Amino acid sequence: MLERITQPDEIRRWPGELPVEHRYTPGVGGEAFFTALRDRGVLLGSRCTECSYTYVPARLFCERCFSELAADTEVGPQGALVSFTIGFVGLFGEPLEEPETYGLVRLDRADAVLLHRVLDTGEEPLEIGERVKAIIRSPNDRDGTISDIEGFRPIE
Ligand SMILES: [Zn+2]
Repeated sequence: MLERITQPDEIRRWPGELPVEHRYTPGVGGEAFFTALRDRGVLLGSRCTECSYTYVPARLFCERCFSELAADTEVGPQGALVSFTIGFVGLFGEPLEEPETYGLVRLDRADAVLLHRVLDTGEEPLEIGERVKAIIRSPNDRDGTISDIEGFRPIE
């Protein structure tokens, strides 16, 4: 298996399945982000003062300078739509009954972007730079996951 494939049509494949399971842990920063989201309904980021850059979700260290960071900065809940796409098929290639829109949002006071659904896109086409607001589920419906955010809704 150390041979280098130079012709894509020479690729061999064996159909089948691998019984692999994994569990993703949110880490220290992610734990702080999801706990704040569940318990207080806020979006928590981490500010690197060395780089003048605010990450969201919160991070343990700066990816640029490796400084240790804290979950110390509330961001959003409003922000600007940086990019978006509309999905018409599901995970397994099945057509969706209704298309789903996903957007990258730069929350106010953050530099990094957060990916989530865009809700109620309405009749008007979305525009890059459009103002949106994170819709946080009511306290009794939160469970400390990314689904505690219903999505982003364009602001009138
Ligand atoms: Zn930094």
